[in-house]
Amino acid sequence: MSSTQIHPAVDHGIVAAQAGFAGGKLSCNCASHKVEVSVSAQTAHNHVCGCSKCWKPKGALFAQIAVVGRDKVQVTANQDKLAVVDPAAAIQRHACKECGVHMYGRIENQAHPFYGLDFVHTELSAESGWAAPGFAAFVSSIIESGANPAHMDAVRNRLNQLGLPPYDCLSPPLMDAIATHVAKSRGVVFAA
Ligand SMILES: [Zn+2]
Ligand SMILES: [Zn+2]
Repeated sequence: MSSTQIHPAVDHGIVAAQAGFAGGKLSCNCASHKVEVSVSAQTAHNHVCGCSKCWKPKGALFAQIAVVGRDKVQVTANQDKLAVVDPAAAIQRHACKECGVHMYGRIENQAHPFYGLDFVHTELSAESGWAAPGFAAFVSSIIESGANPAHMDAVRNRLNQLGLPPYDCLSPPLMDAIATHVAKSRGVVFAA
């Protein structure tokens, strides 16, 4: 195993998704009265993220985060323990007040390019078969959380080795989706 630790879900190699997998339950880290969120679909665009807003397991350099339709996400136990981390943020991250784990992130602004999608950390589930991470987003941002800038080559090399191409924003398909949304909202006509 490499000495560069990215995230516990990828450090020992990436587990492939299971065909026909249809979701599962996410639980927070509390010893009892766990917050439980049921996700009733496979996730998409799973990736590791270096931004300073996504929840990371203790000691991890990156978060692991995926999206799923908001109608597929339901809090099924101990909802009273949830609170929004930052109500002013575009993504409202609903976290357990006791253990701090983010259970789901939701966008309430209907004009946002990713409106309709919730953000979830599928490593909080005991089920296996979830979509595998496919890239690394906001890699340079780990420096903002205290990663040594001198280690960035090692981090990017390790990400490439794992099959997680490193980007300092989102992946090209997601950046294209955002730009397309902006262009359409401005009435831009695309060239043939
Ligand atoms: Zn908790
Ligand atoms: Zn992030």
